[in-house]
Amino acid sequence: RRGVRASAFVRGGARMSSAPAAEKETYQFEAEVSRVMDIIVNSLYSNKDIFLRELISNASDACDKRRFLGLTDEAAAGGGEEMCIRVKVDKAARTITIEDQGVGMTRDELRKNLGTIAQSGTRKFVEALKVKPSDGSSNLIGQFGVGFYSAFLVADQVALVTRAAGGEQLRWQSSDDKSGAYTIEPDSSEPIAGPSGSRVILHLKEEADEYLDEYKLRSLLQTYSEFISFPVQLWAERT
Ligand code: ADP
Ligand code: MG
Repeated sequence: RRGVRASAFVRGGARMSSAPAAEKETYQFEAEVSRVMDIIVNSLYSNKDIFLRELISNASDACDKRRFLGLTDEAAAGGGEEMCIRVKVDKAARTITIEDQGVGMTRDELRKNLGTIAQSGTRKFVEALKVKPSDGSSNLIGQFGVGFYSAFLVADQVALVTRAAGGEQLRWQSSDDKSGAYTIEPDSSEPIAGPSGSRVILHLKEEADEYLDEYKLRSLLQTYSEFISFPVQLWAERT
């Protein structure tokens, strides 16, 4: 797919950008994000399960936002098909993928939403850490949640492939290597189904092997999808 221009994906709409497709760019996380990531990566917190709750809830929020935008914006509405959330396991590649057909993100939104603490629940975590460092980070992670960054409880590398309605497909990527950096680049892997959406790909740490188990995942999903208003499907390989 080399040489395919971003415009191949452009279908018009308010978020369309006329700028040519940029190559791979490296950005630095805001200092507070790096700090939160450090704490998560080094956390001895025993309940790593919550990563799935956080990512499913983000997928669900994104679907809610698209449903709302779809009321007034044809590009966001798409064909009006029912949105769902898919979780896929690839044992050989040691990955878990969580895919939604929600709003997706532009490059600017990726930088703001995943590169800064912004308005997320994570801000409360950072503030609590300032006030009560003695409480220990594990306690606070459980109490406030650390949103998207909780992916680093189980993954050493996290990628998010995303497309906003009318935008190009992008790949955001970061790892737990303490570089404090992430990259964004045009993505030519399997297109996101539907007019917009996101696919979070977790490359599991060795000690997080248990999450490759279909039954473990199925039982976690049962718990965490209880209050989610979109169907959550588990796709596992048949052996
Ligand atoms: P919160 O969900 O509390 O806002 P998170 O850390 O979980 O905080 O996520 C940060 C932001 O990243 C979200 O507010 C949202 O804007 C964006 N985001 C995360 N996951 C997705 C997704 N699957 N689709 C679209 N946007 C997302
Ligand atoms: Mg969240």
